[in-house]
Amino acid sequence: MLLPLEPLDRVLGDRTAKSFARHLGLKTVADLLTHYPRRYSSRGELTPIADLPIGESVSIVAEIVDVRERRMTGRKGSILEVRITDGNGVLSLTFFNQAWRAQTLKPGVRGLFAGKIGAYQGKLQLTHPDYELFAEEVDQSAAKAWADLPIPIYPAASAVTTWMIARAMGVVLDTLAPIEDEVPAEIAKAEGLLDLSDAIAKIHRPAVATDWQAARDTLRFHEAFLLQATLLKRRAENSHTKTTSRVPTSGGALETFDAALPFELTRGQVEIGQQILEDLSAEHPMNRLLQGEVGSGKTLVAVRAMLAVADSGGQSALIAPTEVLASQHFASIERTLGSELAKKVGLTLLTGQQSVADRKRALLQIVSGKAQLVVGTHALIADKVEFLDLGLIVVDEQHRFGVEQREALRLKGKLPPHVLTMTATPIPRTLAVTVFGDLDVSTLTELPAGRKEITSHVVQINQGGLVARVWARVAEEVAAGRQAFVVCPRIDETDAEPEIAEGFVDEEDVSAEDLVEMATPTEPKAPLAAALSVAEGLKLNPTLAGVNIDVLHGRMSSEQKAEVMARFVAKEIDVLVSTTVIEVGVDVPNATVMVVLDADRFGISQLHQLRGRVGRGGLPGLCLLLTTAEPGTVSLERLTAVASTTDGFKLSEIDLELRREGDVLGKSQSGGRSSLKLLRVVQDAALIGEVRVMAAAVFEADPTLEKHPALATALERIDQQAQENLAKT
Ligand code: ADP
Ligand code: MG
Repeated sequence: MLLPLEPLDRVLGDRTAKSFARHLGLKTVADLLTHYPRRYSSRGELTPIADLPIGESVSIVAEIVDVRERRMTGRKGSILEVRITDGNGVLSLTFFNQAWRAQTLKPGVRGLFAGKIGAYQGKLQLTHPDYELFAEEVDQSAAKAWADLPIPIYPAASAVTTWMIARAMGVVLDTLAPIEDEVPAEIAKAEGLLDLSDAIAKIHRPAVATDWQAARDTLRFHEAFLLQATLLKRRAENSHTKTTSRVPTSGGALETFDAALPFELTRGQVEIGQQILEDLSAEHPMNRLLQGEVGSGKTLVAVRAMLAVADSGGQSALIAPTEVLASQHFASIERTLGSELAKKVGLTLLTGQQSVADRKRALLQIVSGKAQLVVGTHALIADKVEFLDLGLIVVDEQHRFGVEQREALRLKGKLPPHVLTMTATPIPRTLAVTVFGDLDVSTLTELPAGRKEITSHVVQINQGGLVARVWARVAEEVAAGRQAFVVCPRIDETDAEPEIAEGFVDEEDVSAEDLVEMATPTEPKAPLAAALSVAEGLKLNPTLAGVNIDVLHGRMSSEQKAEVMARFVAKEIDVLVSTTVIEVGVDVPNATVMVVLDADRFGISQLHQLRGRVGRGGLPGLCLLLTTAEPGTVSLERLTAVASTTDGFKLSEIDLELRREGDVLGKSQSGGRSSLKLLRVVQDAALIGEVRVMAAAVFEADPTLEKHPALATALERIDQQAQENLAKT
């Protein structure tokens, strides 16, 4: 949307602008105007108090019940205690030495109160509350309208309250010039959309509820339209972009490799492989997404593509999301190629944590073009690593990159290289277009022969589930010569936050208001399982006597991690206790059991990825999901879903439904603000599909957007912002 990019300090003054930038990340008028209300309250409607989550910051409408002032016992000073109510529950506000507040805080007065919910002697309390009292409406005839007037409640911070935002919004809206509408007029008319300026005004200052509802629909449409137009434009540009055609030579590396393969390719691997060879031979860059379950043989498809490029004299880079994964990929590709072929194509590893000497050697190989297959982390792209002739980029685990990150890859190299991205967290077909509408999508649907299903069980340890039985089962597997993973959410007790694999986007930031809405009363939680202490505990567990137990976690150096993984692969370790550093791609065929502790702390797709680590060697896999989650909670529902199916498509649908925001587009990891505020990819899938057709028709009739200058400008602005965001990564 073509909202003014004017910095906020010019409109709101320095101090306010600084505070908005610091606490809410809002820097421009456009940022502010798209900081939409989370919900609407009204003066006539009080916010339920009973469900307010302790420890969270909230904004609530309430009425003052009574006000008491008392002297502090044994000390100088006074306490003003103000009790507020929603009609049922009561909440105390406490002020020290501020008796003067009693002049306005009077019984019967209503207002908006904001602060952090605390508990004191068993009673709910707002500590250090801010408030804004509603002025009593004198004109009786206007009383109802006054009581019903929607009050926007904004996502706020303790230093920037919702009414401060509303006030700033007022200042901006009062002087706002008309906004150019980038949705073509005929479409806006046919869809019954509000005028864009009108929609922006009404979402922030509605007179009645239908105002903000219509405004929201309009703005949601705008988001969908711009998203699809962006994806369509990129797709069109891609087909006009020139790149080097890559055709494998006969008798080259790809043929040598295929001839030596110890197994048959699956049908999907053959078909998609063929498709990719076709893509690579074209003179515009391939931009393909390869989806498939963990273990469906995606990496093999990628390796064949890289060999084809090597045959044509070009280089390929495979980017893994973590150091451990890069090393793993490197080792397994080396194994797959065999040492002779690996040498021939100059297989090279490049990571940030290599020794200076190794890194120097690798960089030299890369710049000289000797390294035709390079494996590394995202640093490969971010760093100024120079390739002689980069022909193909393979990205492992696309779900970690959002729409915006993808653009980074396109901008590498003099001629944009071909890009193949792989993901084991498939997106349902209906959604793929919304998220990956600029990519071609291929899906591996079958597992290679000999692949065994994984059985998963939820063990509810509060509900009489037997933890002892879990460890006995692990001991049985070890006795049979197999190995096990034990996965914990934390490294040690000092870890405040669970360790999540790098860049993982499943952890949502749930706001206070969301929590109120969810209204699941939470008991104080027992501390989460920590890898280091779990390992110590297991070593002392008589059931596991004689079992070799060791630890792997993200605070270890990459050498330490590689060393532990090597010992695990060599079967010197029977049970590996780890954090999610083993999440993706780790390949130890002899591992058959995975025990996940505090499994409810992990996301659905993450658990699905994790359990893909077992059952890889033709032996059936078992995954035990331990949890203290109570029956009837979303947490337990998610685990039950994971245990009930190994169908990644089904799981990703469930995941998207249970994840309220469904923000699969990925929050920009570069700190940029996501452009999707109102659009929900699951809920709005139908709308997005329809909008895509409309946007496509616009491009068809007017490919250069000559007749749609506002749309052209809006899309240029999006591209520009994407590039700015990328510059920061
Ligand atoms: P993904 O990347 O999809 O998780 P990989 O390509 O890593 O899967 O394959 C997993 C394992 O299966 C590897 O050990 C690989 O060598 C093996 N594999 C791949 N394709 C086949 C196939 N067609 N038949 C048998 N094994 C295969
Ligand atoms: Mg893989």
